[in-house]
Amino acid sequence: MSVLITNIGELTTNGQERGAATDPAAALDGFAAIADAALVIEQGRVAWTGPASRAPAADEIVDAEGRAVLPGFVDSHAHLVFAGERGAEFAARMAGQPYRAGGIRSTVAATRQATDGQLRANLRRLAAEMLAQGITTFECKSGYGLTVGDEERSVAIAAEVTPEVTYLGAHVVPPEFDGGPAGYIDLVCGSMLDACAPHARWVDVFCEQGAFSRDEAAAVLAAGIAAGLEARVHANQLTAGPGVQLAVEVGAASADHCSNLTDADVEALATSATVATLLPGVEFSTRHPYPDARRLLDAGATVALATDCNPGSCFTSSMPLCIALAVREMHMTTQEAVWAGTAGGARALRRTDVGHLGIGARADLVMIEGPSHAYLAYRPGVPLVAAVWRAGERVA
Ligand SMILES: [Zn+2]
Repeated sequence: MSVLITNIGELTTNGQERGAATDPAAALDGFAAIADAALVIEQGRVAWTGPASRAPAADEIVDAEGRAVLPGFVDSHAHLVFAGERGAEFAARMAGQPYRAGGIRSTVAATRQATDGQLRANLRRLAAEMLAQGITTFECKSGYGLTVGDEERSVAIAAEVTPEVTYLGAHVVPPEFDGGPAGYIDLVCGSMLDACAPHARWVDVFCEQGAFSRDEAAAVLAAGIAAGLEARVHANQLTAGPGVQLAVEVGAASADHCSNLTDADVEALATSATVATLLPGVEFSTRHPYPDARRLLDAGATVALATDCNPGSCFTSSMPLCIALAVREMHMTTQEAVWAGTAGGARALRRTDVGHLGIGARADLVMIEGPSHAYLAYRPGVPLVAAVWRAGERVA
């Protein structure tokens, strides 16, 4: 059973990998598109791309009527296992109160009280919300349980909906360890890790003033890596701290936030395989200054965009919003921003099967109301997603 999608106004392919994963410079040249294009899906994979005039026959034909088609968005940073909501905190922040990492604790209290069924239902609702908006691959973190049992059920429930599960026991120190955070580090690196590692691919830590210090974060990452997990780091969000340097030192796939960087941080990212994942929805929702994407791109760093969907600092699941913010507020080109929300996210998750539409890629596609990828930034806030395919199957 083959499906031909034809009369595509612009098909963003991002090319094929061709070994580019080992060449950081090549990653920046990744945006590629074909005008007046067609694409064939076979067995859940991209089987052919090219000019519509040369498209082969297929069992089924979909007429895109000039709309653009892109790779499904890859959201490499999301916190979707939680209970409760913080709309009032958001309103207070907009009325002038500052954002602090400790606000996470209110979600921790609600999450601990929730049943598995409530956590699962909330997660599935958010996952469906993402899919309807074109996110066909997403990462999902724990980090609102902060007990062995609550972290274990968080990663187990996350693993029901995505293979990209991240153990974030080191999100904040929970209130019961206020007198001695060292005891909490022991737990995160010990029995909590033992319980969570079987359900997770990644280990993450919030390295920030008010969360975890460099030495604490290093201990968490080392323990996770020793348990077979791969590293990613919440780094340099609120202050130019040690997070980015630590991420590069341990060979993390990604340093996320990167909102406050020194020259040495930019250099470290530009000369390593660690992706700089920018989360502009956070700055939008906290009225903080946006990360300097141009400085990173011009230095040669690989930049990804992700939503950071979470109930506190940024409750959006919209990659088109993040792309629009990246273009309008962070001076990325439309091509750079779309690449960062697709292939960049794939790099940040060390995935080569998604984020592009080269031959053999998973057939994850987004069709938008508009003739080119630029419409994602050109028409901000408009629901442009016309159709979504995941692994060749029409899902929205
Ligand atoms: Zn986060």
